[in-house]
Amino acid sequence: MKCSICGQQCGLFKSYHEDCKSAMIMAATKIYSIINRYENGNLACGKMEMIELIKNEPLYRMYLMNQISGKDQIYNNEIILYVEKNVAVSEQKNRCTMVRTGYRWERKPVWNPSSVLLSDSADMVFTDKAVYLLLMGSSMRYPYGKIVNIGYNDEKFMCPPEVFFDVKTTSPFPHRFFVWNKYQKEKAEKVKQVLSCIMGYKYMQW
Ligand SMILES: [Zn+2]
Repeated sequence: MKCSICGQQCGLFKSYHEDCKSAMIMAATKIYSIINRYENGNLACGKMEMIELIKNEPLYRMYLMNQISGKDQIYNNEIILYVEKNVAVSEQKNRCTMVRTGYRWERKPVWNPSSVLLSDSADMVFTDKAVYLLLMGSSMRYPYGKIVNIGYNDEKFMCPPEVFFDVKTTSPFPHRFFVWNKYQKEKAEKVKQVLSCIMGYKYMQW
């Protein structure tokens, strides 16, 4: 078997080296500590801290790389900071349709917001420059500068908690992505924290 962290052989019936596993847990703990300190307002720039940490943790870098199924989609000059696997993603945007209105039977555009489920098991990759949504056989990349809003909806009856973000659009309505996991509900919260930490977006929880 190959070690899921470093990718080298680690022997029969094993999926990782013990040393790799403990080093990985140490690095992951440090990352979460940065994310939490940022969220609690004890850190001015979470992104720089994450980059510094990851530069010094070659094993964790390798672990993150090995987590991604569509590695070739990620730009070579970007540093992978965080990976969240197996989330559902839907896209809500305004699809313009034409209708007849008034006496003159003119055709006018009507904004018609609708949601489409893109994937129920996508990988989300956060680099130092952009967030990637890796879907089955396709990918979307949004540089942080194109993200204009982050939000979070608490769990409601029959609806798991979800995080959303809006990307720049010329439409008067948001172009919004929703991310959630029905069974691992903490994933939405995690994505929100990571996104706000990397983007330097001070999130207000009402
Ligand atoms: Zn290993």
